[in-house]
Amino acid sequence: MVEFAAGDAVPIAHPGSDRGCSNRLAYYWPPNPSHSPMNFCSQCGTTVIVRIPPGDDKPRHVCDNCGTIHYKNPLMVIGAIPEWEDRILLCRRAIEPRLGFWTLPAGFMELGETTGAAAMRETLEEANARIELGSLYTMLSVPHANQVHIFYRAQLLDLDFGPGTESLEVALFREDEIPWDEIAFRTITITLEHFFADRKAGAYQTRSGDIHFKPPASKT
Ligand SMILES: [Zn+2]
Repeated sequence: MVEFAAGDAVPIAHPGSDRGCSNRLAYYWPPNPSHSPMNFCSQCGTTVIVRIPPGDDKPRHVCDNCGTIHYKNPLMVIGAIPEWEDRILLCRRAIEPRLGFWTLPAGFMELGETTGAAAMRETLEEANARIELGSLYTMLSVPHANQVHIFYRAQLLDLDFGPGTESLEVALFREDEIPWDEIAFRTITITLEHFFADRKAGAYQTRSGDIHFKPPASKT
């Protein structure tokens, strides 16, 4: 049995899912620190330790007092690409991360919710906008952030929209007006690039892909 102190960085290569990229970890440990760090057992309050339980192959937060193994799994981020004629609705973020940058309306899926309901709720919360949901458009794995981002095509139902509490402003953009240098996240940029390319080609197709960690560019 391998044992680690909580918080130790233990990179684990996952042979079944490296998609042929041997120089690339397909599994990251510990998760992004913003991804619910854990010190105490939520069942009994005892300090948890990180180790690989018997029969498992990944480190978990384990409570030796009550025996609970606290599994953590990726979070779903669900959003929409709201269209109005030849324009797309974007929101400028009022919260970190990426405060001040533009995003499609999107956010964490809630327990008990469907993906479609999440896309409509996030669009309502962030842009006070009502949409008719279209087809699934992009599904992008972001393993270093422990997230999966899903975007649906959508039609804005009216022009009665405005910033919710998590947005500084909300606006419609034509393709040549998109603030490409001020887009909040790579999954948004990729989704918009596909969208405009597909629109030009006259056929939209659902896409899935992976976003891998990109170290900051060297300043030297
Ligand atoms: Zn416990």
